[in-house]
Amino acid sequence: MNTNQINSDIAHDQDWDVAQDWDVAIVGAGIVGLAHAWSSAKRGRSVLVLERNNYAVGASIRNFGMIWPIGQKPGPLYRLAMESRVSWNEFARQSRTWLQNCGSLHVVYEEDEAEVLKQFCQLTAATHQCEFLDATEISERFPAINTNSLVGGLWSNTESVINPRQAIAQLANWLSREYSVQILYQKQVNQVGPNLLRTSDGQHYSAKQIFICSGIDFLTLYPEVYRELKLSRCKLQMMKLAAQPQSWSFGPHLAGGLTLIHYPAFQICSKIKEVRSRLENRSPEYIDHGIHVMMSQNQDRELVIGDSHHYQERSTPFDQERVNQLILQYLDKMIHLPNKTISERWHGYYAKHQSQAIIYKDVEPGITIVTGIGGNGMTMSFGWAEEWWLHHEKSPTVPFSPQLLGVE
Ligand SMILES: Cc1cc2nc3c(=O)[nH]c(=O)nc-3n(C[C@H](O)[C@H](O)[C@H](O)COP(=O)(O)OP(=O)(O)OC[C@H]3O[C@@H](n4cnc5c(N)ncnc54)[C@H](O)[C@@H]3O)c2cc1C
Repeated sequence: MNTNQINSDIAHDQDWDVAQDWDVAIVGAGIVGLAHAWSSAKRGRSVLVLERNNYAVGASIRNFGMIWPIGQKPGPLYRLAMESRVSWNEFARQSRTWLQNCGSLHVVYEEDEAEVLKQFCQLTAATHQCEFLDATEISERFPAINTNSLVGGLWSNTESVINPRQAIAQLANWLSREYSVQILYQKQVNQVGPNLLRTSDGQHYSAKQIFICSGIDFLTLYPEVYRELKLSRCKLQMMKLAAQPQSWSFGPHLAGGLTLIHYPAFQICSKIKEVRSRLENRSPEYIDHGIHVMMSQNQDRELVIGDSHHYQERSTPFDQERVNQLILQYLDKMIHLPNKTISERWHGYYAKHQSQAIIYKDVEPGITIVTGIGGNGMTMSFGWAEEWWLHHEKSPTVPFSPQLLGVE
């Protein structure tokens, strides 16, 4: 059905009863939707969020809770990540949501990986708050780290942790309370047209600007547009280790050598090619499953660990125990943990574009799809939402795109 049909459908529907005209309506109450809700509400706009589930159940509650600027390429993306981090701190302070500015530690056990970290520190000396630590410094500052064959590591001061299950719920509540954002759950948006949305229960809503922030759902709204966007769905396997003893705390996010080939940040280092080809030759299973091992700690002293990356037809609903074992083995090489009991296993999906950091696609006047933020949604969403509005306030008729900020 094309959009004109949808509009005429909606307009002639007997049930047509728009109780209120909203300035902004948002489809999806994940982090991307809530970030756009906050930026809109801050500017005095009335905001409605429609979420199909009882609460947000997608990627936004299934992740590590890492606010991870260190993974962003130096330049505009790093700046946006740092601005998002300020927003997370502001929200956490005002809403009394748990957040720690915990920093991050990459530990490496190969000389070529240490070379990458040293080069990274040199190249980012003017912009980043990070330093290379040798094995002795690491063992003094982080006694839980496994020093067997340890070469060194990268300490960075700029990462934060939230507990995503709690933080997303609190963010939604806080936006409702402090900014009068109306969030309606169990509202599946089935049709959208200029200024209009229709939900599966037959209700209609009217808004001047609509953001479609529906995560990995490429089929319900504008499927033909999503098809052209050529997005992929990526599946990630995750685990949680039960609470560590009271006396034990690690602190920063932990990552290792595998992470260096995963994040764009480290691709600025010429040595990264050597690391990649060594891993491809010596650790093909890790490369095949897209595994890079990371760990975060929440306020209940539980450890969230992951992850793997399976795209398209390899992203089946069934988790592979072999993948979990590879993750645990790699983690074992990095850190001594007092409690290795696995309390939960799950997987999540995100939408990713092959080359673009995020997709903003205006499908009709006042209707914008926002998707494809990949593995960076918690880190970047607040920054992107602000940029959209800053651009829109200056040039309302020019579609926003990341390229306007100089992002390739
Ligand atoms: C396992 C995993 C670990 C990750 N770790 C991190 C991390 O530590 N740090 C980081 O920065 N990023 C991380 N990410 C990435 C981050 O979680 C995602 O980029 C982000 O959550 C995507 O947010 P979203 O709002 O687009 O999608 P979602 O959270 O999936 O939200 C989309 C929402 O839209 C709703 N919806 C869809 N269609 C409709 C409709 N028609 N009507 C009504 N509602 C609809 C869905 O129900 C859903 O709640 C991770 C991702 C995964 C999967």
